Amino acid sequence: MAFHGGKRMFVKHKACRFCADPSLKIDYKEPKPLAVFTSERGKIIPRRISGNCAKHQRILAVAIKRARNIALLPFTNAKIRSREHREY
Ligand SMILES: [Zn+2]
Repeated sequence: MAFHGGKRMFVKHKACRFCADPSLKIDYKEPKPLAVFTSERGKIIPRRISGNCAKHQRILAVAIKRARNIALLPFTNAKIRSREHREY
């Protein structure tokens, strides 16, 4: 958490962080790193926002879906699903 130069506190991830850091593993059995890539509602954050490359985004999406299936991640946090209300 060092602040060098002052102006770059919020650096956008240009490169995919999984490519940048090979030690980062995408594992559906570990939901914590996966949860970073889901919205508050449990939706998978799109690649354009997360900055992941296509390859890792795909792996990530599969991992998140697997994690959902074994109840490590929520399908959605919204309890009311009667209305199809779209955010976008
Ligand atoms: Zn990548």
